[in-house]
Amino acid sequence: MPDLRDLYQEVILDHYRRPRNFREIKGAIHRADGYNPLCGDRVTIFVNMDGDKVTNISFQGSGCAISTASASLLTEACKGKTDNETQALFDRFHAVVTGKGDGNSNGPDLGKLEVLAGVKEFPVRVKCATLAWHTFRAAISNAIDAVTTE
Ligand code: ZN
Repeated sequence: MPDLRDLYQEVILDHYRRPRNFREIKGAIHRADGYNPLCGDRVTIFVNMDGDKVTNISFQGSGCAISTASASLLTEACKGKTDNETQALFDRFHAVVTGKGDGNSNGPDLGKLEVLAGVKEFPVRVKCATLAWHTFRAAISNAIDAVTTE
């Protein structure tokens, strides 16, 4: 039987090598830049919305496997969701990767994002996993300032 952690590792590496929605959305209504100085990860998130619904989302940047896979998975998870739904997903994701979620708290199903749950054992990697999320939330909040995890 394949080890679950190996499987998770495989998904992360797949998203790192072939990131989904890795492009610029020209003229995107919302965008924000994020930077994680601890690791050197940089990400730019582009979002278009119709009302409070995410209609298109993409990212660019360069960083470690965790930050790139997290951004790639984020774009897949948030497309088509409402502002509130993405916030709920982020809250749950944040709880899980920081080790505060024990899997039985209320909240949306993380789906594929669950593969990043292992970073809770590596506190220094938590910021790699959450960078894209902070940047995404900043983008749709129309924050103009660049995001830093520090
Ligand atoms: Zn990183």
